[in-house]
Amino acid sequence: MVSGTSISKEGRPQVLPVVESGLSPRLSFTASSKGKPPAHLADFDMAERKEKMKEAGFPAFRADQLSRHYFERHETDPEALTDIPAAQREEIASIFFPPLLTKVRDLVADGGQTVKSVWRLFDGALIETVLMGYKDRTTLCISSQSGCGMACPFCATGQGGLTRNLSAAEIVEQVRLSMVAAENGELAGEPRRVSNIVFMGMGEPLSNWLRVKRALHALIEPSPHGFGLSARNITVSTVGMLPNIKKLADEGFPVTLALSLHAPDDELRDPLIPLNARFKVDALLDAARAYFEQTGRRVSIEYALIKDMNDHEWRARLLAEKLNARGRGWAHVNPIPLNPTPGSIWTASSRKAQQRFVDTLMAAGIPTSLRDTRGSDIEGACGQLAATTQENSHGAKTARQAAQALDQAVS
Ligand code: SF4
Repeated sequence: MVSGTSISKEGRPQVLPVVESGLSPRLSFTASSKGKPPAHLADFDMAERKEKMKEAGFPAFRADQLSRHYFERHETDPEALTDIPAAQREEIASIFFPPLLTKVRDLVADGGQTVKSVWRLFDGALIETVLMGYKDRTTLCISSQSGCGMACPFCATGQGGLTRNLSAAEIVEQVRLSMVAAENGELAGEPRRVSNIVFMGMGEPLSNWLRVKRALHALIEPSPHGFGLSARNITVSTVGMLPNIKKLADEGFPVTLALSLHAPDDELRDPLIPLNARFKVDALLDAARAYFEQTGRRVSIEYALIKDMNDHEWRARLLAEKLNARGRGWAHVNPIPLNPTPGSIWTASSRKAQQRFVDTLMAAGIPTSLRDTRGSDIEGACGQLAATTQENSHGAKTARQAAQALDQAVS
């Protein structure tokens, strides 16, 4: 069932009737047991890893060896830890590499070039990843939370609520396991290296800031500290956790910030993005501009085009005005026609309205790329994945379309 606040055609908030969602059968996000995820090597920085190693009764330098196995060779199997005495391998691996993610199922599409995976966490909570192969890159979309607490009424993930934040290691393990899958040729049988990461799976990454920050260090820092991925190939999305946009900039990583704006005015954005009650449009755009100043990275403004709700020409003009008022060349707008889950009241703008919106922005000098979701049930602004039990062709097709939208949005 879906209900809540909506926006009238004139752009005024109104109360929606309760409607049948018609959503696909879904696995429950609810965790089966309480408690923190087991501590794992990827939860710690190198100093902490050494400390833990000593506490466990082993020499500190084993932390360096173990980190290299993990971040360079993506290995956690005790048998493969050949530079560690055989009698110690099992114990060390059991302390530092507790199993965190168990594969539930894959949805494969596009001749095997897209794999959407559902994973079960230690407590039964579910998350998803989407691995996408392209000619020039391999992109992985990851989750930062199981579910999402932001309650955006047009979003499938938001309807299920937040189960819990992921630990840093649960985020990093999505990357390692997907790297292994790519290296083993799980994308159309061709071995690949993951080059790009987008935090656009389940959850609002900046509301799980401390774990996401730790995970970013593990993704970007070179071995033995981390995987050594290029920060420029990493995108973090947000619907507007304003204080943490500044914190992200202060970390000093030139990652791309994707701001899921969806409306240039507070009257509309308040009901569309409940978080807007705390952090208003102008303040968010100021923070996004400051992010560009500090990092040199052009900000992606994500804008899901929703029929008769936010796709008006005057809203495109207002968005352009607000962006231009903060300077030129610092932002790129990605309008994405919304394609909702079956039964949802939220539908995509007409092609005419889409084109008018894009033309208006471009006429005002704003770099704009219309993204084509081609019937996907997920638009790519931020994490709108929802774990599904479907394995049929519709599910697989949806995975590919979702993945394309997500990846196009930041490419
Ligand atoms: S749109 Fe993004 S922030 Fe909003 S509920 Fe969905 S996943 Fe959460």
